[in-house]
Amino acid sequence: MSNIERTLSIVKPDAVERNLQEEIKKNFIENGFSIINEKKIQISKSEAEEFYKVHQSKPFYGELCNYLSSGPIVVMILEKQNAVIDNRKLMGATDPSKADEGTLRKKYGISIDKNSVHGSDSVENAKIEIDFFFSS
Ligand code: UDP
Ligand code: MG
Repeated sequence: MSNIERTLSIVKPDAVERNLQEEIKKNFIENGFSIINEKKIQISKSEAEEFYKVHQSKPFYGELCNYLSSGPIVVMILEKQNAVIDNRKLMGATDPSKADEGTLRKKYGISIDKNSVHGSDSVENAKIEIDFFFSS
């Protein structure tokens, strides 16, 4: 079967702070994802700025980069068929108050900035984001 993809998931600082990473990983496994690699790290503000540079013109960019670098995160490579879109569906809307029942952001998110998880938005960006964290 083709269409096997990889995507990057990040458990953001608000969720790691609440020690939710194992529960979030269980959601991925139950939804058919394989966790190919994972690590718990803390990144610098300049690394966060590089990671989120697509958003550099947005009003929330500074706060977003401060936030992602504010505490430990868990970064993971997820693999399954259609991993990119299926992870986006599992995550739910960016704003947890607008996310569907059963989605990760509905279950765990606190606010639009503290929305617990990141997921790549395209196969192309998934490759870039996986390389960002896992190229040795
Ligand atoms: N974000 C924010 N305020 C906004 C929009 C986005 O703080 O008005 C944050 C939010 O944490 C989001 C991240 O910026 O996850 C990246 O935004 P994007 O639009 O790419 O959302 P995502 O792809 O994460 O759903
Ligand atoms: Mg995005």
